[in-house]
Amino acid sequence: RDVIVSVQHLKTYFNAGKTWGKKQVVKAVDDVSFQIHKGETYGLVGESGCGKSTLGRTIVKINEPTDGKILVNGEDITYLSGQKLKKFRKNIQLIFQDPYASLNPRMTVGEIIREPMVIHHIYQTRKEQDDRVTELLKIVGLKPDHVRRYPHEFSGGQRQRISIARTLALNPEFIVCDEPISALDVSIQAQIINLLKNIQKELGIAYLFIAHDLSMVKHISDRIGVMYLGHLVEEGDSKELYANPMHPYTKALLSAVPIPDPLVGKSRKRIMLEGELPSPINPPSGCPFRTRCPYANEKCANEMPKMKEINGRKVACHMVG
Ligand code: SF4
Ligand code: MG
Repeated sequence: RDVIVSVQHLKTYFNAGKTWGKKQVVKAVDDVSFQIHKGETYGLVGESGCGKSTLGRTIVKINEPTDGKILVNGEDITYLSGQKLKKFRKNIQLIFQDPYASLNPRMTVGEIIREPMVIHHIYQTRKEQDDRVTELLKIVGLKPDHVRRYPHEFSGGQRQRISIARTLALNPEFIVCDEPISALDVSIQAQIINLLKNIQKELGIAYLFIAHDLSMVKHISDRIGVMYLGHLVEEGDSKELYANPMHPYTKALLSAVPIPDPLVGKSRKRIMLEGELPSPINPPSGCPFRTRCPYANEKCANEMPKMKEINGRKVACHMVG
């Protein structure tokens, strides 16, 4: 399949002021490379604070990259701004985690969904925009007369449907879904996942689907990337990675999944994640996972493991491969 998004050695660093006169830098995303194919769902998983939201926001250029490259359909958008960036924005969109905070409470649902069309001048007449709004409401499972209502009149799940409709207004080929179901009731989560899947089937959109928990991305993702402390540590086919995690961190994440999984069987060794995620201001030397890894040795402290490819899987660990 064709590649829609290619991320190459991407770094997103933030200035965190000074401590004892020394400049502090948060390496939120540190040398991450991966590709997303057209129509594919790439699940991105890791604990909160690992940099996954920053990575997603950098790809859609809400956050500024520090170094590396972002290609969309082969075109370099890394340092685009102004009108040139606006052209790409149509094609690459983001759904936020919190449907309560991301919708303007003073706008009607119709205005919220229409707004991107107005900003990007994609329809000539008001009538065309209205028709498109009606069509989008139908796609996300809302009613035509919902256009006149306000976000507060809707439940969390319905609000997420409204933000999905808004995101689809510009016909994007790629959407970053930043924990779109984490703020919702468990009973609603599956509905939103199914909606996103159906939309993908109909429209062929590619997703970067961000979650803190592997069980949330398993059913929607074709491939999964696991992130730790700003780094991608493992990547592979969703089912294979779930059945046979190779990186100690992925293993630990999967042992934390409470529901038994038929794919996994009963023999999987449990690795408990102990301790806190280290600070991205002051990351450990060598392997970023070494302070919590049960297999860490001297080499792990001295040398950063490189990403290796093993039968289609990518793993960054000295012990693997
Ligand atoms: Fe653990 Fe060493 Fe592998 Fe890092 S490189 S995950 S510390 S074994
Ligand atoms: Mg986040």
